Amino acid sequence: MTTKPDTQRMEKIVSLCKRRGFIFQSSEIYGGLNGCWDYGPLGVELKRNLKDYWWRTMVHERDDVVGMDGSILMNRAVWKASGHEETFTDPMVDCRTCKARLRADQVPEKNGVKQCANCGGKDLTEPRAFNLMFKTYVGATEDESSITYLRPETAQAMFVQFKNVLDTSRKKLPFGIAQIGKAFRNEINPRNFTFRSREFEQMELEYFCRPEQGMDLLAYWLKERIKFYQDIGIARERLHILDVPEEERAFYSRGTFDIEYEFPFGRQELEGVAYRTDYDLSQHQKASGKSLEYFDEETKQKFIPHVVEPSAGVDRTVLALICEAYTEDQAPDEKGNMETRTVLRFLPRMAPIKCAVFPLLKNKEQLVAKAKEIVALLRPHMYVFYDESGAIGRRYRRQDEVGTPFGVTVDFETLGEKDANLRDTVTLRERDTMKQERVKISDLPGILSARIV
Ligand code: ATP
Repeated sequence: MTTKPDTQRMEKIVSLCKRRGFIFQSSEIYGGLNGCWDYGPLGVELKRNLKDYWWRTMVHERDDVVGMDGSILMNRAVWKASGHEETFTDPMVDCRTCKARLRADQVPEKNGVKQCANCGGKDLTEPRAFNLMFKTYVGATEDESSITYLRPETAQAMFVQFKNVLDTSRKKLPFGIAQIGKAFRNEINPRNFTFRSREFEQMELEYFCRPEQGMDLLAYWLKERIKFYQDIGIARERLHILDVPEEERAFYSRGTFDIEYEFPFGRQELEGVAYRTDYDLSQHQKASGKSLEYFDEETKQKFIPHVVEPSAGVDRTVLALICEAYTEDQAPDEKGNMETRTVLRFLPRMAPIKCAVFPLLKNKEQLVAKAKEIVALLRPHMYVFYDESGAIGRRYRRQDEVGTPFGVTVDFETLGEKDANLRDTVTLRERDTMKQERVKISDLPGILSARIV
């Protein structure tokens, strides 16, 4: 069952993202640009951690996947052959009353009558196809011969480079090509914060195989991808698998699963895992006249490989991570009174900042010097943040709010003033439990690295 949209929770998340430097509106000082977003100092770290972890588990930790990084602009012939020029469209209607443009499949109905989502008007045009690709011109002349598009998905580069990658990596089927990069779609109604943007990033794998392996590999990749979301901290109960019915699948797909997440605004797609048969390679072979066949040395057979594609959105997953992590609990303030604490409970591996280092007082030279020594000790291992301003409780709260899992405080005991045995020890505070332990400075890199992985 889908739970009711929680508008208030979403508003708090959007406001936190701006206030703490995760996500800003693009071109904000000029009134923004609809469907485009900028990641601030903390957002960019979270996004990198996600992409790095995807790359690590999908490429580096496997023998059967290699990476590539294709160009955003490609020969227009690619988009003709892939079918995007002809069919990469959404049905659009115009409201004749307020002139709003709406996606026909998202126009709300009242008593069986379609109404404009903007003004409630009922005078709507018939749906017509609107191509989602951004058109542009390559070179100095703006005519028919110089048209191309900003890629609406990263996948096509992996299909058209299939042969080059195969020949240079010397992989045998089944094997995959992975890519992370920007994609652009001129969405009719960008909405739900970064969820539906016009510029976004994808993490895609094209996993090539023999025809008879396709269905098994579809099941395999669905399982792997669910595990991935759990490993980055998304609870299994908020992930849903939609077995896309045949009539809603692309005509060439023999099976597609959408992995959905329960966002505060409703259950929505994070990733599609699709068995695309040999459609893409066949299309490009036909259109280019170049062989994209695979030669099986054992059976001496030549054939066009089939492909299973797990295609994930970076921005949607970042948003899911933030929504999943956002928590409010009760914690004592400086005077011991309970107050509401906002915490982003990121798994340490996803957290933008791994550890914050605080001298108890900023005007005590020895405390500051020790804290800076610790920063230098930890820096080669992780992203750390030094903060000396304000009461220590406030500094903890600031880090809780951005999801920093560990805080290290240098106090007078560190200097060995009260007890020589405690010299060169610090308190290590854990974000979620707020528990503190006393550890040796020299043990910090080992202890923290083991908890971050
Ligand atoms: P939707 O139905 O939500 O428009 P889609 O099925 O068209 O998505 P795909 O073409 O399968 O999406 O793209 C693969 C992934 O790319 C999606 O699962 C999503 O994570 C991401 N993605 C697609 N469109 C957008 C967008 N406009 N903004 C952000 N991410 C997107």
